[in-house]
Amino acid sequence: MIVVMRPYATKQEIQNVEKRLTELGFQTHPIYGERKTVIGAVGEKSLADPSSLSHMPGVEAIVPILKPYKLVGKELKKDPTVVDVGGGVQIGGKELVIIAGPCAVEGEEQIYSVAQAIKKSGAKILRGGAFKPRTSPYSFQGLEEEGLKLLCRVKQDLGMPVITEVVDTRDVELVSRYSDILQIGARNMQNFRLLSECGKTKKPVLLKRGLSSTIEEWLMAAEYVMSEGDTRVILCERGIRTFESATRNTMDINAVPVVKELSHLPIIADPSHGTGNWKYVNAVARAFIAAGADGLIIEVHPDPQHAASDGPQSLKPEVFDELMNVLKPIAQAVGRAI
Ligand code: PEP
Ligand code: MN
Repeated sequence: MIVVMRPYATKQEIQNVEKRLTELGFQTHPIYGERKTVIGAVGEKSLADPSSLSHMPGVEAIVPILKPYKLVGKELKKDPTVVDVGGGVQIGGKELVIIAGPCAVEGEEQIYSVAQAIKKSGAKILRGGAFKPRTSPYSFQGLEEEGLKLLCRVKQDLGMPVITEVVDTRDVELVSRYSDILQIGARNMQNFRLLSECGKTKKPVLLKRGLSSTIEEWLMAAEYVMSEGDTRVILCERGIRTFESATRNTMDINAVPVVKELSHLPIIADPSHGTGNWKYVNAVARAFIAAGADGLIIEVHPDPQHAASDGPQSLKPEVFDELMNVLKPIAQAVGRAI
């Protein structure tokens, strides 16, 4: 439920209501507005009788939250969330954010050359996997901590925030030390322990949509992260499994307007994993920006043919540069900027 406080309710009144909610067994998530404060209260309904709250000083109204995703949905927070990832980069504002880099960090030369190229083209965040969730246990699994260290060095040298995937609860602390954003991959979207552990760090979390997940399941996964008090969640549509086999996955462009209607969280798109083929990446990227996505995550590799993972869907730096140029007028046409 939402406890709506009267305009200009005092700090003491707000604190008293929060205290009472905690006593009743609710978790509280206050949103302080300039005039008005609302307090999101989530928890087991059976534990509490909230009717007494409506008589507390400063309380204007008690409104139930009908959707199962309480913190992620728009009932509690209507304004779009702008996620500050540090280094002057914000996702969800007027400016679109393009994240780019290789599927996996493979070595110093590779990551530096991609990072320099994508930065020059206008990307704001560098991606690179250090722990890779591969379909086969015999495929390259990532450089692990060495990869994280390389990402961190590039970040310091080029002044660019970095994102990398965390695949296991045991690595959350380690990855958090090096990465600005924790990426939760499609295969782990419903790994609830991992979602909670990432949420506890309070770091920005990029939550990819599961391969066969509905939008509601995806929003419920984001709710796990937010229920730990982490407000900086970014959703990422990366294609879902359908009967279609011409592409690796099927990009669900519907997810953009649907998520925008249901949630205040920013949503970006990953046409690299969504299509699985570099030839289709640019067209799909353009479509997602036109549809209102807040950014993109694109795989770029200096030598895709010899990439350790996801070469077929990786753009060469020069193709990425072309994409950045064609995105500009599209962004402008939908009231955004790059
Ligand atoms: C990735 O970003 O390299 C990746 C493995 O993505 P996904 O979880 O969407 O498959
Ligand atoms: Mn990949």
